[in-house]
Amino acid sequence: AAAATPRRLSPTAATSPTQGDARWGDTSSYGAKKKHRVFCQLPNGDWALCTVLKTSGDESVLKVSEGKVLRLKTESLQPANPEILDGVDDLMQLSYLSEPSVLYNLQYRYSQDMIYTKAGPVLVAVNPFKKVSLYGTEYIDAYRNKTMDSPHVYAIADAALREMKRDEVNQSIIISGESGAGKTETAKIAMQYLASLGGGSGIEYEILQTNPILEAFGNAKTLRNDNSSRFGKLIEIHFSTTGRICGAMIQTFLLEKSRVVQSAVGERSYHIFYQLCAGAPASLREKLNLKKVDEFKYLKQSCCYSIAGVDDSQMFRTVTEAMNIVHISKEDQENVLAMVSAVLWLGDVSFTVIDNENHVEIIVDEASKTVAELLGCSIEDLNLALSKRHMKVNNENIVQKLTLAQATDARDALAKSVYASLFEWLVEQINKSLSVGKRRTGRSISILDIYGFESFDKNSFEQFCINYANERLQQHFNRHLFKLEQEQEYVEDGIDWAKVDFEDNQDCLNLFEKKPLGLLSLLDEESTFPNATDLTFANKLKQHLNSNSCFRGERGKAFAVRHYAGEVAYDSSGFLEKNRDLLHMDSIQLLAKCKSSLPQMFASKMLAQSDISISVPYRSSAADSQKLSVAMKFKGQLFQLMQRLESTTPHFIRCIKPNNLQLPAIYEQGLVLQQLKCCGVLEVVRISRSGYPTRMTHQKFARRYGFLLLEDVASQDPLSVSVAILHQFNILPEMYQVGYTKLFFRTGQIGKLEDTRNRTL
Ligand code: ADP
Ligand code: MG
Repeated sequence: AAAATPRRLSPTAATSPTQGDARWGDTSSYGAKKKHRVFCQLPNGDWALCTVLKTSGDESVLKVSEGKVLRLKTESLQPANPEILDGVDDLMQLSYLSEPSVLYNLQYRYSQDMIYTKAGPVLVAVNPFKKVSLYGTEYIDAYRNKTMDSPHVYAIADAALREMKRDEVNQSIIISGESGAGKTETAKIAMQYLASLGGGSGIEYEILQTNPILEAFGNAKTLRNDNSSRFGKLIEIHFSTTGRICGAMIQTFLLEKSRVVQSAVGERSYHIFYQLCAGAPASLREKLNLKKVDEFKYLKQSCCYSIAGVDDSQMFRTVTEAMNIVHISKEDQENVLAMVSAVLWLGDVSFTVIDNENHVEIIVDEASKTVAELLGCSIEDLNLALSKRHMKVNNENIVQKLTLAQATDARDALAKSVYASLFEWLVEQINKSLSVGKRRTGRSISILDIYGFESFDKNSFEQFCINYANERLQQHFNRHLFKLEQEQEYVEDGIDWAKVDFEDNQDCLNLFEKKPLGLLSLLDEESTFPNATDLTFANKLKQHLNSNSCFRGERGKAFAVRHYAGEVAYDSSGFLEKNRDLLHMDSIQLLAKCKSSLPQMFASKMLAQSDISISVPYRSSAADSQKLSVAMKFKGQLFQLMQRLESTTPHFIRCIKPNNLQLPAIYEQGLVLQQLKCCGVLEVVRISRSGYPTRMTHQKFARRYGFLLLEDVASQDPLSVSVAILHQFNILPEMYQVGYTKLFFRTGQIGKLEDTRNRTL
């Protein structure tokens, strides 16, 4: 299995503690002392919390666990935070903020089912891979009434609601993370919180019921996640002026079409195929001529038919019920399922070679008959569309016979586009049903559940698009958070501070977007040349982009991009074809001629998109490529998305997958660390800490350390007590600032006070 192995590249974004770097806590003055808690690195690379038994020379003897003692170089040790900070619910409260401290804190909480932790303004959610009792009405009420304030998706959703009402600004909840990290579950939990507000007329229930439908048609079992979303999704939930839910609108991004005709061993195609075959009642089975899943070629190739713990036939009933609830008529439902069956049967359509040039015709058998029947066309029409290509050359109509390979491609292209059109159509129907129309007067909260950064052993066009999207989102994240974190609290509390630079990924975005010499433009240009190949494309990139520091040409068809989260090597094989995403005119014409309503609608939509009028019977092949390319369409969608998000107050949730096995209670430090780096969590914390990360109100500070004062201060106000403490303990003026309501400390300062406090107690 391909493993995600992103690396951080930039030398400026130091993520490991360096001696004397104030951002990580003052480690330079740190000498391991007896009884101190420190982190040491075990041979497997993991960090372990241990206690110093003694130090001699440059070595320390450490107690790692009961009965286990290690001798290590003192300089390889990392200071650990005082016990009082174990499991703090905001990483920002840690006095030392090294990688081991962060990993330990998240792990400490995770082992107690506290899967949510704040990293300053960002919520980190570590996937429990089991049921945790953190959800439901009681919890929802507790967060609503503010009787509970530990980090939670509910708290984020609640903050979004409050800020929407208070500031009269639209809000967004942006969820990211690797596949299997828990984004979709998190999005649903946020939706549940918002839906619990009620809206009257059951609209909130309808909104929740869109999930099983979209998951059936857009999710599949992959090696990384049994319920992996193969599309990105934005759901905008609308509120009336009285603050109640009144509707919603869903936008989807880049459905993975190729899965319909091809999936890797151990993975499945879209859930709905299996659900339909397992759950359709007898009359429907007969009508759609369904077989068992292992009898369809498209499903057979991956040798995987079921998912542990999932009953596909039960899910079929859930999906049908959900379609009822979002007002998809019985008739439409049957039309939808007929398309699902038609796609399956298309995979079984086969060809016979008719001459010695390998030209083919379709075989008239159960498969081709069933497809024709379900689409509402004749077998002759189907044959024509899949075995011949009509072209106009020099104003003459010519007919080209297809070879076996070409015909098979044409068949698969038809199956993919019918399925993708079906998905689009479903989303449209859902939107019609949830639409608020003229009633829309209030504000909205959008929830974005979108694929995270991907870097596998082999990266193709899909990763290219996904990672481009992540660059855009990362820039949004950077601009909001680093500005926000730096400015807001300091300014509010009247603190002097020096602005700290953060890494901007504009260079990488330019690499993608620049015209005419950016990755996307060059891809599009090359896609329009009939004779271009993946190799000519790769060479073109190298020719024009080699001077760009975010780009590196590699041998043959390969090239690498330095993304914010690490360098990714792409293999350009298939880029041009996937970007063109051609469905030949013959296939579109076939759909247009079908008697069933859905294929006709699909065809007119395709024709509208390709800007070709239906009155022109056949256009040359070149005309097909007038259609917007996949990359350009995606770029357009992304721009629109960013524009939408720019006008909202964002709330960020970063989901983390603690192991690749989808099992509870396994926390792999290396895996977690790599994700924390990728999604910018460590960077947020680093930036925040370059200022005065430890913050405590005057009151709390006075209460906690006041008793250490030598003089009696019982009658004094918290601020005076605080200042007295600072003086008595010789905290250097550059190590703190006094704000209107809080004291702001550089890293490591509270640790010293805590030591004294503990010794005194
Ligand atoms: P993603 O959308 O990031 O790919 P999912 O949201 O589909 O990941 O989560 C993958 C799986 O992890 C889910 O099917 C579920 O089993 C488990 N999971 C995720 N979040 C939670 C949670 N909060 N509680 C329990 N299980 C969860
Ligand atoms: Mg998902």
